[in-house]
Order: sequence, then C-alpha cells, then structure tokens
Amino acid sequence: MFKDMMPSFELLMPSDLGNAVQLAKQQGEGGWILAGGNDSLDWFKDRNKRPVAIIDLAGIDSLKGIRETPDYLEIGALTTLTEIENNPVINEKYKLLADAAAKVASPQIRNTGTLGGNICQDTRCWYYRSGVDCYRAGGDTCYADTPEGMNREHCLFGADRCVAVSPSDTAPALVALDATMVVVNSEGEKTYKAEEFFVGPDVEITRMTVLKNGDILTAVRLPAAWAGATFYFEKVADRNSWDFPLVNVAAAMKLNGDIVEDIRIASSGIQCIPRRLTVVEEVVRGNPRNEDTAKLAGKSASRGATPLNFNHFKIPLLENLVTRAIRDA
Ligand SMILES: Cc1cc2nc3c(=O)[nH]c(=O)nc-3n(C[C@H](O)[C@H](O)[C@H](O)COP(=O)(O)OP(=O)(O)OC[C@H]3O[C@@H](n4cnc5c(N)ncnc54)[C@H](O)[C@@H]3O)c2cc1C
Ligand code: SF4
Repeated sequence: MFKDMMPSFELLMPSDLGNAVQLAKQQGEGGWILAGGNDSLDWFKDRNKRPVAIIDLAGIDSLKGIRETPDYLEIGALTTLTEIENNPVINEKYKLLADAAAKVASPQIRNTGTLGGNICQDTRCWYYRSGVDCYRAGGDTCYADTPEGMNREHCLFGADRCVAVSPSDTAPALVALDATMVVVNSEGEKTYKAEEFFVGPDVEITRMTVLKNGDILTAVRLPAAWAGATFYFEKVADRNSWDFPLVNVAAAMKLNGDIVEDIRIASSGIQCIPRRLTVVEEVVRGNPRNEDTAKLAGKSASRGATPLNFNHFKIPLLENLVTRAIRDA
C-alpha cells in the first residue's frame, strides 16, 4: 500500500568532491550516494532501503567527462552511459565499452544512468528486491535456492548462501579491458583492478563491490595496453527492448595474423561478480582463431558450473556466446 511513495530523507548536494567525502563520512551507515538514481529510486519507492540522508553527486563536475592520458583513458564515475556510447575516443579505441553501454536498458535510462551507478548497482534477485529477510538483506535464508525457488535468472558459479548475479552490462567489459577503479574516502585515494572491485558472497554477502560507507567511486581507467584490440560484446535477455542480461559476454583479444596472442574475456549474469573466464583464456591464448578453437573455448566456459533447478539453459547459452565471441570478434 505504501509502494511508490518514498520515505523522507535529507538531501545533501555537495558541489565538490572534498565536501562529498566529508558528508559521506559524517552520514556513515545512514548515508546513500546518488548518481543518476535509476537503481536507487527503485529501492526508495519500494521502501526497502531507507537512507537517512542522500548525497547527490550530480553537482560535482570533476566526476564527469572523459580524459585521455598516455597511459590510460579516464572516465569520470558520473559520465552517462549515453556519453560513453557516443564518445569518439571510446568508439575508436575501446569500442567494447561503447557496445556494452549501448546495450543497457533504454535510451532514457542511458541518458541519466552513469557508469559508476551501472557498476555499483545492486543485484536484481526479485526476492531480495521485494524486501524479504534473506541472507543478502541480513537474514538467515535464501528464498531463491530452494526446490521451488524461482531461480531462472540466478547463478551458475560462486554460490555461497546467496545465488544472485551481477546484472551489469558494462562490468564484464571493464574486466575484459583490465580497467582500474579509483575510490576516494576521508583517508585518501585507492585504486582497485576491476576484478578486485567486485566481490562475491564468500567475501561479503551484503555488498557487491569493495565500496563501504564513506567510499566514493570517482573514475574508471582503461589502460592503453588494450586500446584498439579486437573486441566482442553480446547480450542475451528475455526481451529485445530494455531488459537485464540473462547472460552477456565481453571479450578483448590481441591478434597476430590469426593467432590469438592475448585475450581477456568475462561474463555477467552467471555469478555474483562479472566472471572472468580464465579457462577460456587459457584454451584460446597462443592458438589460431578458428572454428575448432572457438568450439573448444565455448565448451570450456561452463566448466565447474553448478546450475540451480531452473537455470540449466544458461549453460548452452554461455557456451554459445563464448564460441561466437572467439569466432566472430
Ligand atoms: C528499468 C531498468 C532497466 C535496467 N536495465 C539495465 C540493463 O539492461 N543493463 C544494466 O547493466 N543495467 C540496467 N539497469 C540498472 C541501472 O539502473 C542502470 O544501468 C544505471 O546505469 C544505474 O546508474 P545510476 O547512475 O542511475 O545509478 P544510481 O541509482 O544513482 O546508483 C546505483 C548504485 O550505485 C551507487 N553509486 C552510484 N554512483 C556511485 C559512486 N560514484 N560512488 C559510490 N557509489 C555509487 C549508489 O549508491 C547505488 O547503490 C536498469 C535499471 C532500470 C530501472
Ligand atoms: S539469491 Fe541472494 S539476494 Fe536472492 S534471496 Fe537468495 S540470498 Fe537473497
């Protein structure tokens, strides 16, 4: 009966990063960082998250925009997905990220949704989103991992009490591009490789990234080492219009003739973190890019998968996406 009516909160609108960091520290557990609001407002309207104060980053210009340096391309955390999709440097050198951003949701959501918000968004497990007291919400059960649990969208790998998945389309592209995340808090700045930035339930069940209260993601850096590589992004969802990925795949390859000299490949929708497919990389690296390698790579992608009752279909889906990524990139 209260759905769609947000509980009240204090709205704080810092105009510079220093002020935002100070406010985030002061607010502690009661604070909530807001970027484009596409994920956050769902939570507030459903009354399933009730922050005391919202720290709205929208007025901080230093968190917006794309800057090129000799070593990396830096994308401010508040840069919108539409800007990423249309940016000429990203399209020329890191098209993988432009392609992934273009597949997120709808044009309206991409116009306001930010890169930071896209990678920091919470899981879409519908039990959790409906406000139940499951493990991830601090309770002592998982409603999805039961014989009758509706777990069609849930994980193949890395279950640990929680079987939810990362729903982000840009996150696997950032893992494939070997990106670095820049995080600031009252103690200073710290950087994390994309693979360290995302955390599974075995590490921390109530969060999906390393970010704790008081932390602000300021930028994502794409290393020059992967600029201009050969890329592939594909997403499969239930609908062709906006929808979260059932499985997506993002690959970056360095080719020498038809030999794959190096490769990084990752996938969302199959684990609580964007899963780097290291077995696939080992199968492909140093080998010619042909149908046999692609098929072998596809088969190896599902090695170690433990499907739930209703998500066995994700195994051939993942295998086919990986085969296509290697063959068609
Ligand atoms: C209808 C709908 C469809 C969607 N479809 C897709 C899809 O197909 N693919 C997909 O990948 N996503 C999808 N999303 C998810 C997501 O809302 C958008 O991708 C969007 O990019 C989120 O960005 P935002 O800036 O609006 O995030 P916000 O809602 O502002 O923030 C999201 C989370 O990140 C945290 N956060 C944001 N910025 C920072 C920062 N700089 N530092 C620290 N924490 C931060 C917030 O505290 C919050 O917890 C969809 C969302 C909706 C509502
Ligand atoms: S999968 Fe995770 S988020 Fe979903 S009900 Fe289980 S514990 Fe909660």
